[in-house]
Amino acid sequence: MPIKSRIRTVPHYPKQGIMFRDITTLLKDPIGLRVTIDDLARRYADIKIDKIAGIEARGFILGAPLAYVLGKGFIPIRKKGKLPAETIGHDYELEYGTDRIEIHTDAIEKGEKVLLVDDLIATGGTAEAACKLIEKMGGEIVECCFIIDLPDIGGRKRLEKHGHKVFALCEFEGD
Ligand code: AMP
Repeated sequence: MPIKSRIRTVPHYPKQGIMFRDITTLLKDPIGLRVTIDDLARRYADIKIDKIAGIEARGFILGAPLAYVLGKGFIPIRKKGKLPAETIGHDYELEYGTDRIEIHTDAIEKGEKVLLVDDLIATGGTAEAACKLIEKMGGEIVECCFIIDLPDIGGRKRLEKHGHKVFALCEFEGD
């Protein structure tokens, strides 16, 4: 398991009870980084994709090299107030309170096929908000891809219920 074995678990971060799946140990390893990007690139090599959208911040680290290898453009989906030009945003629920992600209004042309990338899916709330933004702009979600799925939390099922395809390179049980 070249990928899963390189992911570090930090118990009780950022708060008591959370098992934080830390990909910095995967990224710092040249084989780990290469296998991760190559595995995703192989999966999407023959699929029609116009753009790759990454969710701030770890989705940037993965999405940009994937876009480069596949020869596609990269779009950042960022936290509130970070993008300089005209944006549209979507608010979504967190465990406590709400958050907002934004995208530039000229990032996606109507009908473009977009692959969404992030490091991990837990509740699926962040990815669902990102999908809504992409669809609001007329983009079509090809798939939502992650390094890690936490299946017990149910994010994959949540996205699938909305008709999205989901792919993850590995799974961790529990939360
Ligand atoms: P969610 O919206 O619940 O699917 O959360 C996904 C986002 O939160 C991703 O951008 C992850 O980076 C981060 N995240 C949530 N839970 C964890 C965890 N256990 N370990 C590492 N990152 C997490």
